[in-house]
Amino acid sequence: MGKYIIDEERLKAVGENYRRISDEVRELAVKAGRSEGDVRLMCVTKTVEPPYINEALRLGADLIGENRVQEFLGKKDELELSDVQAHLIGHLQTNKVRQIVGEVDMIESVSSFKLAKEISRVSSARGIVTDCLAEVNIGREESKSGIMPEELFETLAMISELPGIRIRGLMAIPPICGDMDEARRYFAAVRQYFIDIKDKKLDNINMELLSMGMSADYPAAIAEGSNIVRVGSAIFGARRYY
Ligand SMILES: *Cc1c(COP(=O)(O)O)cnc(C)c1O
Repeated sequence: MGKYIIDEERLKAVGENYRRISDEVRELAVKAGRSEGDVRLMCVTKTVEPPYINEALRLGADLIGENRVQEFLGKKDELELSDVQAHLIGHLQTNKVRQIVGEVDMIESVSSFKLAKEISRVSSARGIVTDCLAEVNIGREESKSGIMPEELFETLAMISELPGIRIRGLMAIPPICGDMDEARRYFAAVRQYFIDIKDKKLDNINMELLSMGMSADYPAAIAEGSNIVRVGSAIFGARRYY
């Protein structure tokens, strides 16, 4: 492993952060009236070099999230991924679908019917079913991808007809908020969609996973029913790029 210059201080900090936050996530789950293991902590590993990721994995992290297809495929072989799941959480272009299907356990960033159709086509051709989450653009932001809330039901109904793709829940990134209360209102809105869709009982659409909450706001997200929190900088430190 001579490839990386390891910053021992940072390595230690990653371990401490991981342990502290995973304990906190368990406590927050209980505080929200759920069981301790109900909320999964995803370590968001974009821009992070493999030695630091492996430190969290050795301490028990079992879920990582990467944003870019190329970056993930480039470092995958250096990660200690046995019994660890990897999700793609970043914007996915249709022309990259071929490269990522079968390489991750879930694609959380299904942001359009067009993308779902391509995942369906590639997965079917390979004889597999790809687990996905539908990404909701909860703040209706131009700068963000995701399905607009008012189009969510119709889009999911169309996706439900496709082979090779199974929607297992929702993912959302709310707008940057000034305070926790504001963030919480967005999370509550996502949760309401989650419940409404679940009540519709569409074939092939299972509302079991609600992925919301990042370093700045995961406590508010857990309070509003999140069961996957995606935490990057609070574990690995500030990112210098992206
Ligand atoms: C980067 C990223 C995260 C983690 O962000 P932090 O603020 O560093 O915790 C979570 N989700 C998505 C989709 C991201 O791109």
